[in-house]
Amino acid sequence: MTAGSTVVVATKNPGKVREFAHAFGKLGLQVVSMFDYPDLPEIVEDGATFGENARKKAKTVAKALDLMVLADDSGLVVDALDGRPGIYSARYAGEGASDALNNAKLLDELSQLGAAVSIKAEQGTAPQGKTKLLSKARFVCALALYNPSSGSFVEAEGYVDGFITDTPSGAGGFGYDPLFWLASHGRTMAELSTEEKQAISHRGQALASLLIQLEQQV
Ligand code: IMP
Repeated sequence: MTAGSTVVVATKNPGKVREFAHAFGKLGLQVVSMFDYPDLPEIVEDGATFGENARKKAKTVAKALDLMVLADDSGLVVDALDGRPGIYSARYAGEGASDALNNAKLLDELSQLGAAVSIKAEQGTAPQGKTKLLSKARFVCALALYNPSSGSFVEAEGYVDGFITDTPSGAGGFGYDPLFWLASHGRTMAELSTEEKQAISHRGQALASLLIQLEQQV
């Protein structure tokens, strides 16, 4: 990838497209997504891991377009739910579920369990007022870049740890961001700017690691 070139990202998630466009834009790269290729069929995400799903998405789209393609598979791993929704994060409340429905289901399950955790001072800042924390959680992102000419992958993973709050807050980001409390920042992920989210997020970490690998290959 050289300045001025285009990166094809195998996603139709507008939140992910925005974040990739922001990250690659800073490197002088333009992002196109599956919104630019509406005729490509949907990919069934039937892998057992984030990595397997990312590899499948990247390879399927790269072969169809005969272009190098980057794919992301990501999700939320919640301790009190034994790691769910995990790879099923996008369809937690059902196929095609909205972010609002997925978030409502998460709060519902955690409240039925009576889940609760508290933050120790050394772990960072707890929310103010009546807002409670329900569980520890982690966002995970697996990235896979497939090159159809060489038939090879470059891969990276990233994660960020936080807590699920019982009170959504913030209008930035997407998905579960309004419920993801960052003790390090004393804010939810949805209360961060795109720049701040990029610096600490699972996707930001995975991208940084992928870019280091790509630089080493040049
Ligand atoms: P995927 O498109 O199959 O990788 O599903 C990703 C799902 O995980 C999204 O639809 C969100 O529900 C969730 N997710 C992944 N990354 C983020 C993030 O950065 N913020 C909030 N939710 C996320």
